[in-house]
Amino acid sequence: MNDLALVNGQVVTMEGQNPLAEGVLVRGSRISFVGTSREVLERRSPHAEVIDLQGRALLPGFIDTHVHLISTGLSMMGPRLESCRTLGQVLEALAAEARKQPDIVKASGLEPATPANGLYLTRWDLDRIIPDKLAYVVRRDGHSVVVNTRTLEQLGFPSETSGIDLDPATGEPSGVLRGDARRIAGDRLTFISGNDRQEAIRLATQRAVEVGLTTVHALDGGWPRGNEDIKALLSMAPSLPVRIVVYYQTKEVGKALELGLPRIGGCLLVDGSIASHTAALTAPYNDRPDTEGMLYFSDQELQTYIREAHSSGLQISMHAIGDRAIGQLLDAYQTVLSEQPRRGHRHRIEHFLMAGPEHIENAARLGLCASMHPAFLHFSEERPNIYLERLGEQRAARVNPLSQALSSGVIVAGGSDSFVTPMDPLLGIHSAVNDHPPGSRLNVQQALEVFTINGARLAFEENEKGSIHPGKAADLVVLAENPLRCSPDAIKDIPIEMTIMDGVIRKG
Ligand SMILES: [Zn+2]
Repeated sequence: MNDLALVNGQVVTMEGQNPLAEGVLVRGSRISFVGTSREVLERRSPHAEVIDLQGRALLPGFIDTHVHLISTGLSMMGPRLESCRTLGQVLEALAAEARKQPDIVKASGLEPATPANGLYLTRWDLDRIIPDKLAYVVRRDGHSVVVNTRTLEQLGFPSETSGIDLDPATGEPSGVLRGDARRIAGDRLTFISGNDRQEAIRLATQRAVEVGLTTVHALDGGWPRGNEDIKALLSMAPSLPVRIVVYYQTKEVGKALELGLPRIGGCLLVDGSIASHTAALTAPYNDRPDTEGMLYFSDQELQTYIREAHSSGLQISMHAIGDRAIGQLLDAYQTVLSEQPRRGHRHRIEHFLMAGPEHIENAARLGLCASMHPAFLHFSEERPNIYLERLGEQRAARVNPLSQALSSGVIVAGGSDSFVTPMDPLLGIHSAVNDHPPGSRLNVQQALEVFTINGARLAFEENEKGSIHPGKAADLVVLAENPLRCSPDAIKDIPIEMTIMDGVIRKG
């Protein structure tokens, strides 16, 4: 048996009664003892490997409850545009990629357009550098794409398709696609080979290990390649270096049941995103007074879906960002739960970004969980503040109410929404502590809970992982410094020294 005696550390157990210890004994794939270094050494078996932590911090392995795993891996394989600050740089990167690709040029990570960065990419810009191949460029939030003329012609949208942006000067399609048009383009253009898929899963999970994750919730299977994606994830899961909890983003309940999954939905969209002006708001956008965003389901359709999934005994998870979408989703949950009450359903709302006090109260009363994404505010601060731009001062000040949700009794867990922000739990913890306004920020202890034990709760796994306790899985992370003791503004830079999953050292 593979035994580890980890000693001389600052063990942050995330257990109420025994918050700090010095050492942990791992027997096989389980934690067998937590205590002082001396106690651990006394109990170790003769062949145990002794690891002297030299004062470093040992925590439960981190859990990211919102990752688009295959897209994350695919984006690691293709060009990324986040670092491009001007339209010229974007076009240069795309032209370089075009020289490598015979048929289709795909790229992702294009920053939201603002007057300051001028990244209003159109099909005419793309035509200049990619006239004769297909071109498909995804915004960083994934909720809008830009295609060139050749691609637009090939897609041949039916005239009633919604989400085809028009150029204000000419009234012609600009190449920017949102909503339905974006979905159709994605359906047709994001096919991948089996090898690429496996490579993407390997790359993304290896990256997860590097940043200290031992579990990721893989919210996948959104496009027509969905079934293949989910099957690949399930079949590769036992050999991956992190645990994955698969959420199938399908509207067909039968598909999840067929695969024996206890959950469904993932980031299934109730609305879009703020950066792409598609999150559904109760009042118009600040910088686009002509729109309040879009809902992707009618009230009736949403209720029907939730009723079907709930009555099949599944845990449901859905994406809602704008206040109008959050209200619609809460209403649907409320209706179905009053018809068919079920204790401990732990249905989820993803993002919950513009949740107001009443939404939070309702979510707590209905027993809902929220997967929230603190690093969204890290990037909105670093770049031109997209929330300020899109929502105006008052609404921007209230986005991502982490502490209000947590203190009202909603089970709040953390996520990255990778590829939208990088998988990086320390960045998420850092952002929850530093990048939120005083009214919504968390203290370090709460932020750690959100990325450990509460992440476990979101998948009904709190007896198995999320804290350091005898009998639980040996999923652990060693950090060069203790986030509870270091300066809060240095949390994101703490080096990850070791990641242990299932009792095996995966990094270190
Ligand atoms: Zn998502």
